[in-house]
Amino acid sequence: MHRDVVVVGSGPNGLAAAVTLARAGLGVLVLEAQPTVGGGARTLDLGLADGVVHDLCSAVHPMAWASPFFRGFDLAARGVELLRPEVSFAQPLPDGRAGVAYRDLDRTAERLGDDGDAWRFVVGRLAEHADHVVRVAMGDKRSLPPGLLPRGTGTALHFGLQVLEQGTTWGRRFSGDVAPALLTGVAAHAITPLPSLAAAGTALLLASLGHAGPGWVIPRGGSGSIVAALVDDLVAHGGEIVTDHPVRTWDDMPPAHAHLFDTTPRTVVEVLGDRLPRHARESLEGFRYGNAAAKVDFVLSEPVPWADPEVRRAGTVHVGGTRDEMIAAEAAVHAGQHAERPMTLVSDPTVVDDSRVVGGLRPLWSYAHVPAGSDVDVTEAVTAHVERYAPGFRDVVVASRCIPAAHMSRHNQNYVDGDICAGATTMWQMFARPTARRDPYATGRDGVYLCSASTPPGPGVHGLSGWFAARRVLREVFNTAVLPSLAPDRTAEVWPAI
Ligand SMILES: Cc1cc2nc3c(=O)[nH]c(=O)nc-3n(C[C@H](O)[C@H](O)[C@H](O)COP(=O)(O)OP(=O)(O)OC[C@H]3O[C@@H](n4cnc5c(N)ncnc54)[C@H](O)[C@@H]3O)c2cc1C
Repeated sequence: MHRDVVVVGSGPNGLAAAVTLARAGLGVLVLEAQPTVGGGARTLDLGLADGVVHDLCSAVHPMAWASPFFRGFDLAARGVELLRPEVSFAQPLPDGRAGVAYRDLDRTAERLGDDGDAWRFVVGRLAEHADHVVRVAMGDKRSLPPGLLPRGTGTALHFGLQVLEQGTTWGRRFSGDVAPALLTGVAAHAITPLPSLAAAGTALLLASLGHAGPGWVIPRGGSGSIVAALVDDLVAHGGEIVTDHPVRTWDDMPPAHAHLFDTTPRTVVEVLGDRLPRHARESLEGFRYGNAAAKVDFVLSEPVPWADPEVRRAGTVHVGGTRDEMIAAEAAVHAGQHAERPMTLVSDPTVVDDSRVVGGLRPLWSYAHVPAGSDVDVTEAVTAHVERYAPGFRDVVVASRCIPAAHMSRHNQNYVDGDICAGATTMWQMFARPTARRDPYATGRDGVYLCSASTPPGPGVHGLSGWFAARRVLREVFNTAVLPSLAPDRTAEVWPAI
């Protein structure tokens, strides 16, 4: 049956695109390879303990809070509660000290002592103008973000200068070792060698969001609540989702005026084959995939016994030690080796969400950085690493499950060889993502668009890639200059077309 639009993949970007287009009155069909919808934002019962659910991929959502798409969509009005840990992120150090990024900037700076003013300068100034930072770092990387000039010029300049400073000479501005470690732990989200400009950009965006608004929020019940809100809205506007439907060839999709791929460029090349012009295919084939992550989910009988009591308040803990240790660990991974103490990200949703504790048992979410394609079970490495900062951790572990990097693509083929960023985070690919085309969402074939984290603004649950791509589709395929409201009550602001 002919559709107006087919979306391949039901991750947050695919659903954001689908919702936008369905709200514009178009007939939208979403085809999802997996049995469950939501891609990198699913919350599932892994069978580790009765009733205890885990976030399969994403767990912590500063980007969803900051995203203009989700602002318009209004998660709160749809019953999605974004819970606010008092501590956005923390960085325990081997000697027992810890960097602690409270939502409250003053408290953070005070605890950093002599480096408090430098933290205010580097991160705090950005946090105070987080709206402008979001426009700079979470735009389509091709157009001047609306509303940035002239008022955001100073913030944009400060952001750029700090990327240069932090991305080339980590910590020169800092005199101690806690603040540099605290910022480097955030930079490590880029899963790329440190220091680097791309990692510094990631660090400055995420760290500033840690002090802006609600900080690094965690949805009540897990990330799946965001997916459920998107699916409800899509269905309410006539959209349809078919699961267990991998798209491998062009014939796996019904005809439509527009096809959007919430996938990697690799999948677009496989599905379209010769339907793509040769130069377009070659440039999509040049897209690079990056270092990987292996997931370890735990069930605990008690909260993690972090040595520093303030770390126990954190929704997210970066387990990597000192700045030098993290630089060495990421360098090893980039060289294709397993670090003895791999950079590990840990999130305990029960810090803010009691509903996640079932029968006295609680989930703990973690992943560790490993070389691309690694099939190593990192449970022991992660356990030992956490134990270093939380003596007794081993004793509270009731069950665990590892998904090695090489197996990540079994539950989401966008994570090529375990690259959870759906493409390497390099400075080139921050801007020329997925290619250097003027329109990053175009594929080279009329009516076919990319809308995944492989396009700007890159990884994260923000829905912006889907939203930006949908805007192109409305304008170019359906000649519509006005975007539909995303708000639940249909009466709110109409976004201007770009
Ligand atoms: C372990 C892990 C931890 C993360 N932590 C965070 C976090 O805390 N906060 C955050 O903001 N982000 C986090 N991320 C990143 C975030 O999950 C992703 O960047 C985000 O989900 C990307 O959204 P997307 O819609 O582009 O793609 P995805 O969410 O990856 O969804 C793509 C969908 O397309 C489907 N698909 C792919 N190919 C096909 C095909 N050929 N046919 C049909 N369907 C197909 C997939 O099955 C999948 O459902 C994490 C990711 C991982 C893996």
